[in-house]
Amino acid sequence: KRSPAVPETWTRTTCVYCGVGCQMDVASAGGKVVAVRPADHPTNRGHLCVKGRYAYEFNHAPDRVTTPMIRRDGAWREASWDEALDFIADRLRAIIAESGPDAVGVLGSARASNEENYLAQKFARVVLGTNNVDCCARVCHTPSAKALKAMLGTGAAANCFDDIEIAGAFLLCGVNPTENHPVVGARIRQAVLRGARLVVVDPRRTELAELADVHLALRPGTNVPLFNAMAAVLIEEGLLDQAFLAERVTGFDDFAAFVAAYAPERVAGDCGVSAADIRAAARIYAGAGAAMCFHGLGMTEHLQGTEGVMTLINLALLTGNLGKPGAGINPLRGQNNVQGSAQMGCDPATLTGSQLIKDAGPRFEAAWGCRLPATHGLDLLQMMDAARAGRLKALWAFGYDIYLSLANEAATRDALAGLDLVIVQDLFLNETARAFGTVFLPAASFFEKDGTFMNSDRRVQRIRGAVPPPGQAQPDWWIIQALAGRLGHAQGFAFDSPRAVWDEVRALWPDGAGLSYERIARESLHWPCPDEDHPGTPVLHQSRFPIGQTAALAPIGFVPTPETTDETYPLLLTTGRTLYHFNAGTMTGRTPNTALRPTDTLDMAPADAAQLGLADGEPVRVHSRHGTATLPLHVTAQVQPGQLFATFHCPELFVNRLTSTVRDRQVRAPEYKVTAVRVERG
Ligand code: SF4
Repeated sequence: KRSPAVPETWTRTTCVYCGVGCQMDVASAGGKVVAVRPADHPTNRGHLCVKGRYAYEFNHAPDRVTTPMIRRDGAWREASWDEALDFIADRLRAIIAESGPDAVGVLGSARASNEENYLAQKFARVVLGTNNVDCCARVCHTPSAKALKAMLGTGAAANCFDDIEIAGAFLLCGVNPTENHPVVGARIRQAVLRGARLVVVDPRRTELAELADVHLALRPGTNVPLFNAMAAVLIEEGLLDQAFLAERVTGFDDFAAFVAAYAPERVAGDCGVSAADIRAAARIYAGAGAAMCFHGLGMTEHLQGTEGVMTLINLALLTGNLGKPGAGINPLRGQNNVQGSAQMGCDPATLTGSQLIKDAGPRFEAAWGCRLPATHGLDLLQMMDAARAGRLKALWAFGYDIYLSLANEAATRDALAGLDLVIVQDLFLNETARAFGTVFLPAASFFEKDGTFMNSDRRVQRIRGAVPPPGQAQPDWWIIQALAGRLGHAQGFAFDSPRAVWDEVRALWPDGAGLSYERIARESLHWPCPDEDHPGTPVLHQSRFPIGQTAALAPIGFVPTPETTDETYPLLLTTGRTLYHFNAGTMTGRTPNTALRPTDTLDMAPADAAQLGLADGEPVRVHSRHGTATLPLHVTAQVQPGQLFATFHCPELFVNRLTSTVRDRQVRAPEYKVTAVRVERG
């Protein structure tokens, strides 16, 4: 039920949900958020989706935790900030004294600001003395960042959302923007309705697939051979940008010889599509003048996630779809500030600005007045492995329900159960806190603090507090500084505002130096923006790549996932998100959006439901080699026979009991997109 309160104040801020980063005005009255309306801004042009516009009532939910808590003898008890911080400081000192600083890990958050993520990784490195710091980018787009950085030199989207209206064609790969990035999805839809060509590569018949010139409904796990086949067509049919190849690309001859083995007629059957459709898709992508590629987690959350993105970059290099408006390889980031959390240095191998420790380390040491830790840090998945092995003893997680959202619940449970200290910092007692938390620190929401977010197209935007935090809740940046002070590092953690933190970020990150609070308040700016007179860089790679004048094509062989169907597990399950909810449901699950979509479902093709004698709406038990979950069945022609789709927003259904331990070969993102299962009446 909507609050009848009359707005007293309107505050301009940035939506916290997806990586589009829509600008919105938040109405407050009596210290509460009472309405949200879209802002007319280049990012969202006066639109918001159902999440940004209506999913705000979580902020004042009755079960919001507003006091620090410590679990003693199995029960949560309220504590003062002094007690909670002293408790944590004592435990961390003891763990580090006994096991060393690498026995502790820190996880930043896509819901925290850039400034807070910067402080989180600085805390890990300076206060704790470890590079064990990571964030949720590990499980979604680290494969994109790795592939883009390795091949082109910048681990972020090549172009910006403003290019959607310029592109002559779209190649959408493993991404469903209508549901997961709705304002961008609507802009793509409008562009297609005006005449832009559209290729959709997705196992499901999504709303945009209905509009597509070609829909390649591939078998999950076959991205690499499919995009190799498109590359083979480009070369065989001469659909190449010869000038771009001559000036900007190396390795053509070896690459051409390599992909000749992936001719569509050879691989189409394995990919579950027709050779003619692969050829048609390649012709559309190459023939548009400028074609914009967007990809999502259907590309990255695979055994070959990083390598799959590399096969997309090959297509852009062959056709010259880089370094010009209306083109580019563009990961659509799932969570609003996931780009920012990794970019700020919540990554074991890189410092702020994705600068390698080995290159930028001395500058940071001089600025921070310390020696950086010498040992290589652990990423999130390696932290879980180390916890299971007894080497990691403590974990501090900001705004991240790792127990619910990591793949393979059994493995995550084993890891978290082995820790001596689990610090959860969030708005609510999430599943990680309920099952494994030692200390809970109540955080301010994005409605209640200042700072910046970084969206999918490298735009840095302000968030502004519209209401005060409830009870004793505090912004993450305050909490990090308070704990640093307890551990003897008040100096270096004495910022009086997020703006002061951001100024330190700008001093250490050359590509962000021009992004002052004053400028981003009045201009829409994309990094790189190296000084305050620089206009920002909406399109990367226009005259050269950061790695040099040329980029190299990458021959990528196909390595099938071990997660295959057999007689016992004959169906392939893919997991993903829905329009109405966001990730673990911690926020949207406490809003009226639950009335629009009350539960996760298992989506099944009508033919499979008929064969199994199952009816729409009935509960079904899903068994994988890794676990079992019970969900209501949703019979829909959106999924193909032999395949299933489930969302993972409801804690009580816990879909990650099913998912496997398979990880990306290069950066260890879990393979959420392919799990062999069987289904029976629940
Ligand atoms: Fe928020 Fe994304 Fe919806 Fe925009 S499209 S309102 S950023 S969830």
